[in-house]
Amino acid sequence: MELVNLTRRTEIGSNSYWLKIGGKNVILDAGLHPKLEGLAAAPHFSLVPEGKVDAILITHAHQDHVGALPLLTRREPQARVFMTEPTARISDVMLHNAVNVMTRQREDDGISEYPLFTHRGVEFCSKAWHPRPLRKRFNLMGDPSDSDREVTFEFFDAGHILGSAGVLIRYDGKTVFYTGDVNFENQSLMRGASFPEEGVDVLIMETTRGDSPVPTGFSRANEEERLARGIQRAFERGGSVTIPVFALGKTQELLAILWNMRLRGQLAHVPIYIGGLSTKITGVYDALAETSVRSHPELQLLQEMAPYVLSGNEVQTISPRKKCIFALSSGMMTEHTLSNIFCRRIIGDANQSLFFVGYSDPNSPAGKIRRAAAGEDIHLEEGSPSIPLRCSVEEFQFSAHASRDTLRNYALLLKPSKVVLVHGDKPAIDWFQLSLFKELPETGVIIPEPGRSVAL
Ligand SMILES: [Zn+2]
Repeated sequence: MELVNLTRRTEIGSNSYWLKIGGKNVILDAGLHPKLEGLAAAPHFSLVPEGKVDAILITHAHQDHVGALPLLTRREPQARVFMTEPTARISDVMLHNAVNVMTRQREDDGISEYPLFTHRGVEFCSKAWHPRPLRKRFNLMGDPSDSDREVTFEFFDAGHILGSAGVLIRYDGKTVFYTGDVNFENQSLMRGASFPEEGVDVLIMETTRGDSPVPTGFSRANEEERLARGIQRAFERGGSVTIPVFALGKTQELLAILWNMRLRGQLAHVPIYIGGLSTKITGVYDALAETSVRSHPELQLLQEMAPYVLSGNEVQTISPRKKCIFALSSGMMTEHTLSNIFCRRIIGDANQSLFFVGYSDPNSPAGKIRRAAAGEDIHLEEGSPSIPLRCSVEEFQFSAHASRDTLRNYALLLKPSKVVLVHGDKPAIDWFQLSLFKELPETGVIIPEPGRSVAL
């Protein structure tokens, strides 16, 4: 059994790993790097002999896990692609949206490699998708199988976003479990992960939050209270609240948080604005509410919260009226996105409030604002004039990723013979390496160098 890390660097970046097991080639995830441009954002698929991939297993529909899938299926048309049904529904929306974004970037930024694939490419790709349910074993042809003589896979709910799953691969009495992105605790919509609790020989584990300890006394319920009070204060000042969110996952969790606040009498029926992609994805959450693993299966977010849909044109002109909530993507306020464009009109206004509810890369526009002092000049887009930061900025923690302690405890519970640390920046991986070295001295801890084969 061998593993090759197909990503280009050891960092949060993107995800794609080549597992050689039982004479088969299995690719785990096919993500695009969110911060790189052009083909450099794609994994090193050329390391895999062309036409030899048997199966591709996708853990969830975030771009850094599925964004390069059309490139991979173009090289590997014979490969079957397996994912959960919600992941298939959302991936379709995400990949078609990616074509539109790349086409615009080709025009605006002159990136000649874009789009890396077309709408027809996404349609071709999706013909190879075979949705499979949680907690059932299948062979790489997609047929149910309990045989240890063939390579099988089984999805387990990962509690990260709708459809997210970890995957257990079995062959000849050996097991490999890849967590994908996971959250062990309940969010407002997603329930905590339900992962295998024994019988894992090799654990491939995400490490996103390895360098950030959970503050003492932290609880999600307290955080919701704090957010409710923050919104009330902002409204009392006579302004609106802008919350940069990812279109997939964070938008729907935030809508559920606001719905809860309304039920508790902490929030009036104020107008809520979201973007078009967020609306489409929320529609998938609603359509699958009763058949997917989540809390409040009765809650139809679009119907209950009735958000206004802001188009790319409207966001240029709409004025931030009093007592509104603007939950706009992207979460990191990347250039050309709704949150970046809209925030240019609010950050210089002391009556307005800007709330962050999740992770931002320190070098992203959101990261720059979070580091900045009051009154400091902020450049939200290259070439645009700088604006002094005068709005109120507050931070809240509603991460969709497991805390480092719950992840470490999961590894301690399994006591695997090997742990492979992936999807983390260096300080995060270092923390896990040291902590597992101390507490699981019998376990081999592997940090897979990009492009190098490691024996499992
Ligand atoms: Zn994710």
